[in-house]
Amino acid sequence: MVTSELSNHHHHHHNTINSPMGKPNSRSKTSSIFLSDGCLFLGGAFSTLILIWGFSSFTTFPKDTLNLEHLSQTDAASPRAPDLTFDPPDKTFFDDPQMGYTLDKKVRNWDEKRAEWLKLHPSFSDGAKERVLMITGSQPEPCRNPIGDHLLLRFFKNKVDYCRLHGYDILYNNLLLDPKMFAYWAKYPVLRAAMMAHPEAEWIWWVDSDALFTDMEFKLPLERYKGHNLVVHGWPHLIHEKRSWTGLNAGVFLIRNCQWSLDLMDSWASMGPQTPNYEKWGKTLRSTFKDKFFPESDDQTGLAYLIAIEKEKWADRIYLENEYYFQGYWKEIVGTFQNISERYKEMEEGVRRLRRRHAEKVSESYGEIREEYLKDAGIGQGNWRRPFITHFTGCQPCSGKYNAMYSADDCWNGMHKALNFADNQVLRNYGFLRPDLLLNSVSPVPFDYPHPWHHHHDDDHHHPR
Ligand code: MN
Repeated sequence: MVTSELSNHHHHHHNTINSPMGKPNSRSKTSSIFLSDGCLFLGGAFSTLILIWGFSSFTTFPKDTLNLEHLSQTDAASPRAPDLTFDPPDKTFFDDPQMGYTLDKKVRNWDEKRAEWLKLHPSFSDGAKERVLMITGSQPEPCRNPIGDHLLLRFFKNKVDYCRLHGYDILYNNLLLDPKMFAYWAKYPVLRAAMMAHPEAEWIWWVDSDALFTDMEFKLPLERYKGHNLVVHGWPHLIHEKRSWTGLNAGVFLIRNCQWSLDLMDSWASMGPQTPNYEKWGKTLRSTFKDKFFPESDDQTGLAYLIAIEKEKWADRIYLENEYYFQGYWKEIVGTFQNISERYKEMEEGVRRLRRRHAEKVSESYGEIREEYLKDAGIGQGNWRRPFITHFTGCQPCSGKYNAMYSADDCWNGMHKALNFADNQVLRNYGFLRPDLLLNSVSPVPFDYPHPWHHHHDDDHHHPR
């Protein structure tokens, strides 16, 4: 893909550091996403209330039947769905000829401009602070690896699944919007354009094409980041003291759609290949971060530079996340899938609520129920919580090249296992499971799976093995 395929030395992981999974310290309870979708197929004034009622009663399962007439009376209190058909004639930044989508068009007062747009589009105000747009992408040309495009499709499918489950929008880009900004630099023109195209989105979430969600239930703990504008996986001491270019990973990050971020991207992109200072920056970055072994200026070391050297200007608003796998090194993760699957199955054998069939649309609430049973999953190496994002750093699915420290089988088997591990969590809502993470055959899931008694009734229940 654009970001890592064109460079084999991007996103190296620091092996000596545990990157433990932590419990998200808050889970957003906004329900507007569900409500908006619910309205579409239930219809009528009471539909949103049925869903609200449903949400608040997951743990109680009341026996009373619904009284729809009664419920409809409080409908006015329910959040509105974004109105996709309404764009008033009032002038916004979109009507300003000085404004542009490209990085060279300097933006001022973006926070005010966004706020004005939101004011003119009030149906977007519910949940505006938690609205996330995911962006990913790959190169403009077909992959050289014969199965590269297939792998990219599956990596993308995984992100689409995750976004559908959590009500996020997703954008895929496979063009160099600025032809000079190649490789890992290609994401910045996209981010810049997307921020303007999506004033309704508070956060833009870049996820590399070689990274995938291996916990489809986990949600970003956005509450934790409310005082920050950029979230990236990293470790402060490795950046500030050790001056290591792998003190953070720029393959996955969350950036707030605000003026600060536009300013940061200006500084960040000023180290890129589209500028006359590209070579000079290569030297500067290499002399600052001694373990950087290639001469070209890259975005990951560039960000480390801004954090370490332009500390006063940026570091306060950058959250270096290392309490859970905001992104995790695949090498330390893929060997744990088997054990994790078994632990989750045991958990579900013991907890009827977690085995309950449900509509995919309400699956987020089951993730919340599960939190209670993940308290002793542990943090640190050897924990058995599903890792949130697994990043195939150094494997390059599209080009087929891979870092010499791995074998081809490590990379491809690792990817298939991770993709299937994640896909099993999605398939479950459709009544199927892959019994073997390296095979594509599926088994139907019996009712109440994995009820412990089913072990003795395999003949009756087509129990996946
Ligand atoms: Mn990557």
